[in-house]
Formats: sequence, C-alpha cells, structure tokens
Amino acid sequence: LSSKLEKAFQSLKGEAKISDVNIAETVREIRRALLDADVNYEVAKEFTNKVKDRAMGEDVLTAVNPGQQFTKIVYDEMVTIFGQEREDIEVAHTPPTVILIAGLQGSGKTTFSAKLAKYLKEENNRNPILAAADVYRPAAINQLKTLAESISTPVYSIEQKDAVRVAKEAVSMAKSLALDTVIIDTAGRMHVDEKMMNEVAEIKEAVQPNETLFVVDSMTGQDAVNTAKEFNERINYDGVVLTKLDGDTRGGAALSIKTVVEKPIKFVSTGEKLDALSPFYPDRMAQRILGMGDVVSLVEKAQKEFDQEEAEKLQKKIKSDKFDLEDFRQQLQQIKGMGNISDLVGMIPGAGKALQDKEIDEDAFKPIEAIINSMTPEERRNPEILNGTRRRRIAQGSGTKVRDINDLMKQFNQMKKMMKQFSGMGKMGKMMKGMK
Ligand code: GDP
Ligand code: MG
Repeated sequence: LSSKLEKAFQSLKGEAKISDVNIAETVREIRRALLDADVNYEVAKEFTNKVKDRAMGEDVLTAVNPGQQFTKIVYDEMVTIFGQEREDIEVAHTPPTVILIAGLQGSGKTTFSAKLAKYLKEENNRNPILAAADVYRPAAINQLKTLAESISTPVYSIEQKDAVRVAKEAVSMAKSLALDTVIIDTAGRMHVDEKMMNEVAEIKEAVQPNETLFVVDSMTGQDAVNTAKEFNERINYDGVVLTKLDGDTRGGAALSIKTVVEKPIKFVSTGEKLDALSPFYPDRMAQRILGMGDVVSLVEKAQKEFDQEEAEKLQKKIKSDKFDLEDFRQQLQQIKGMGNISDLVGMIPGAGKALQDKEIDEDAFKPIEAIINSMTPEERRNPEILNGTRRRRIAQGSGTKVRDINDLMKQFNQMKKMMKQFSGMGKMGKMMKGMK
C-alpha cells in the first residue's frame, strides 16, 4: 500500500498545472453532485464553468492531485458566494423590530415564526410577540397559538379577516406592552398568485418591517428558485429561510437562490420541533451540497487544528517507539477538535480505505480520556506496567470497568502499530503544508 502511495504522490508533486484533462473527471463529478443536490441546472453549469475557467493553469500544490485541488477551489468559491459572514436579523433603532414572514403554503412559515420567536428569546434575550396574519383559516391561527403557548410567547389575533389590520395592531400592541419584536406570520398559497402577493405587499407597506424573510421548502428543488425569484420581484425581501433540510435533500436550492436572487440565506430549519433552527453557515452548506467533503474538510480542518510541529514530534516518537498513553490522549484531544473521527480517518490519504472498514465508533472514545486521566504519569509513560491491581484501581477512579481498560490497551497497541506503519509514508505533514 505505502509504496503505491509514494508513487502516486511523487507523480503529482508540483509538476502539474490544472488543465482540462487532469480535472475532467472531477468537473463531471462536481456537476453531478450539484445536480443531485437539486441545484438548478443552469446555475450548476454556470457555476462549474466559472470556477473551472478560474482554476485553469494554476499550479498543482504539492501532494494533492489536481482533482482534489479543484474540489477545494469549488468549495471556496461556493462559500464565497454564500457570504463569509453569517448575517443577523436587522434590529430597529426604536423598538419594536418588525419581522415579516412570507412564502408559499406549507413552506414552514408558521413553524418558523415560532422557532424564530424561541430563538430570539433564548439567544438574543428578546421579548417577541407573534402576529397571526394568516387570517383565512381558523386552524392556522390555532396552530400558531399552540406553538406560541409551548414557548410562552403572546400571539396577537383578531376575529376579522383583515391581515393588514392584524399586523398593524400587533405592532401597536408590542409598543404598549414594551415588547421589542413583532413576528408576522402570513398566509401562503399553493402557488404564487396575485392576491397573496398583494396582501404581503400591503402588510409590508403598512408596517414597514425591519426585515422581511422569505421562507422556502428546500425539498421543492428546482421550483424553489422560481418561487424565490417571483417573491423577490414582488416584495423585495431581505433574507431567505431554507426549511426542511432535515430530509434527504442536500440543499442545492440554497446555491440556486443565492445565485439568482442574491439575497442572504439567514436561517435553516431542520425539523418540526421548535429547536430545529440554526443560523445559516456557508461552509456547512457548501459541504453538504458538494456531498464530497473529504478533501475539503481535510484541508479546512487540518489548517485550523493541525499543529505542524506537534505532528513532526509525534512522527519521531512513533518511529522510535516512544509513543505513549500521554501522546495518545493528546492525539484524541486534537482529533476531537477536528470533529467526526471516522470522517477524519477517512480523510487520511491511503489510511482512509484501510481504516474505514474497521468501523470506528466515536462513542467508544469518550471514556478513554477518563481512563487515561485516572492513571499516574508513570503508567501513562509505561503502559506495560498496568497489571491487574492497577487496572482495577483505574477502573474505579474513572468509573469504568476493567474490561474497558483492557479494551483500551488493545486499541492503543493496535493504533500504535498502525501509526508506525503509516509513519513510513511521512506525507501527512507535507500535504498540510502544500495546501495552505
Ligand atoms: P406554512 O403553511 O408555511 O405556515 O407551513 P407550516 O409551518 O404550517 O409547516 C408545514 C408543515 O411542514 C408542518 O407539518 C410542519 O411541521 C412542517 N415543517 C416545517 N418546517 C419543517 C422542517 O424544517 N422540517 C420538517 N421535517 N418539517 C417541517
Ligand atoms: Mg402557516
């Protein structure tokens, strides 16, 4: 295995430039990934071509192949399109801050309105009131009331079917109750129609919201971008909320909408429960859409977490067989900082395939630190002195069983062996450097 890798790396060391030929396969893969993720066809084509043109002729970095490097460039470009910084909700100079929620029926407006209320209460210490401006169906008002009750948030509603009036009165109510935020949940239709658009536009005109958010179901795939466009032309919203990202969808709608409408995506909704809301993170979304995070996250995470010097020290230790439990613990801490362990192992070139089959169980790593913490420094340095008595003492100290300690020692010895094998390749460090 290792000699094969050596060869592969050597043939790539800084000799190549990115060309049509050496990234053709990757370009195809990326385009396929985008389409699979429901990115609008035109957007996918335009995006890939643009990035390809830009990447053409760049020197290939040491120790990665042109395809990997291109993937990284694609990823960076996508993150840039999404915007590096996540954008917060506008806050009014004089309260209340008014937030208008618009979108098609079933897109998740009512659920999101309640989620947002909860989020603003918990994260920003705000005191919101919800306005039930979906006045046509009593069920809609009740749905909002039930959700609001579960988060102890007031709802303003009236008997009359007058959405503009509800919105205006909710704002007055907020002022008189000294509530700092009004979230207006509106009615949606199955499809974009004039009556709905007019109503939302009228509400917008009447209450002059600080923020109008367009809610869109990410599972509507190719349609999402058209809906987003039509709503934007009509009500010129400030931000997008992408819902139902908990399903299989990879969220390509995010790229399509951002490209076509050029409005920031502010939140993503990932479930029916009220805590299933998250601010929009460009990097996470790009990884999700590309669905091929291996190379990208290797580089990203490695740049952040990997300490070159430490790595080299470790390599030396491994080679001279001085790798002990103290190093092991530090390794674990570093790995934990990098996120998912099985992902990480999968990302180590060459080691990936060999180790992936071994089903690394992340939970199994949790008690390990406890065990190592319960050892004396001497035991950490010389694990071979861990006899039965010592193991019993450590088990007691760490709240584990002797069996756990035996397992750990087995794992540790395996890892040590494996690391020694891989250390011969010595490419990890170079690769990190090359990709900076
Ligand atoms: P509205 O018609 O735009 O107000 O949409 P609702 O808020 O009533 O949501 C429509 C349906 O989608 C409801 O059954 C919600 O529980 C569900 N829903 C909303 N957001 C999400 C989400 O992020 N994930 C999932 N799985 N379901 C959602
Ligand atoms: Mg609703």
